[in-house]
Amino acid sequence: MQTMILLNDFQRQWDALREPVLSAVERVGCSGWLVLGTEVGNFESALAPWFGKAEAVGMGNCLDATEHALRSLDLRPGAKVLTTPLSAFATTLAVVRAGCVPVFLDTDASGQLDLDLVSDWLEHGGQRIDALLTVHLFGHPLDLVRLEKIQARFGIPVIEDCAQAIGASWNSAPVGSVGRISVTSFYPTKNLGAMGDGGAAMTDDPRLAAALRSLRDYGQSEKYRHDMLGSNSRLDELQAAILNDAFLPALTRCTERRREIAKAYREGIANPKIRLIHASEESASADHLFPIFVEAGKRAQFREYLLRADIQTAIHYPSLIPDQDALKLCPHEVPGSLANARTLSETEVSLPIHPYLEEEEVSRVIDACNGWH
Ligand SMILES: *Cc1c(COP(=O)(O)O)cnc(C)c1O
Repeated sequence: MQTMILLNDFQRQWDALREPVLSAVERVGCSGWLVLGTEVGNFESALAPWFGKAEAVGMGNCLDATEHALRSLDLRPGAKVLTTPLSAFATTLAVVRAGCVPVFLDTDASGQLDLDLVSDWLEHGGQRIDALLTVHLFGHPLDLVRLEKIQARFGIPVIEDCAQAIGASWNSAPVGSVGRISVTSFYPTKNLGAMGDGGAAMTDDPRLAAALRSLRDYGQSEKYRHDMLGSNSRLDELQAAILNDAFLPALTRCTERRREIAKAYREGIANPKIRLIHASEESASADHLFPIFVEAGKRAQFREYLLRADIQTAIHYPSLIPDQDALKLCPHEVPGSLANARTLSETEVSLPIHPYLEEEEVSRVIDACNGWH
């Protein structure tokens, strides 16, 4: 009997990594220290270079890391934050929770925030923007050279949401290396996932790093001294130890495997009804997701067809963030058309691309895509 090809396969991950995970658990148990200790510190030191940064601050999740990144920048109340309408809702939720106002600009045809549009808006938009929150969607890196130019030319801090893109690079520069602060998630489905929730914020600025450390721990700068209103968003010693011993050492290998699968899909899928994204030369994706695009009216039928062939799929994302009901209740701005993002949200389908897929499964996905008409 043929087995279902899953979007994520945590049982296979367990089979591959159970030994280092169990020994990490054993070490933390023996240490007698469970929250914010040497395991978190060691993991932070190992993590920061992945984003080309000096420091990493482990947190409870990426939503909190993004909110605290914005808070640490000391923006004015009601500060405007330019961001993308096509991402996990958490990206925007962090902006709202930090007391800022999200301003949404359209994506390009590949789903990334359109940096030409961003430059143009900053130049001619006629209103003050306080920060730029970008997302390396699908694991594909934004053009970091242009992002750096935007940050320098307009003097606004960039925060890079790298939740989907650890290990991706542009012209050999890692994602996360441009922003004043970069954030990531260790939600289990991410390329570097924990066995539960986790996140981190990375920066080169020691003052920002100190603020981030304080914000994750009730805003205290030392025990019982509260300079800021923070939250409780600490990374556990257990998650840090598991990440450091088991998942981080496997990340390069897992990313290579994702890239192999993406290459096989790009070379193998040839169906005039399916559009793929073709990356530029400078880009090395982390291939977190493998998005393909079909006619809007045919998407549901295509997904049912794949499910009948025992292939799970997902949609990233079925609605634009500014179209969500929750945003009706809080200030936000949509200064132009979001036509590209809207088309993508109506036509996108994500194929399985986790690193534990077998060759035969990759071929099955390709054959199924090519057999659809
Ligand atoms: C998953 C994800 C988040 C949220 O991460 P959490 O750790 O679940 O808070 C934010 N941004 C992007 C782009 C994501 O993919």
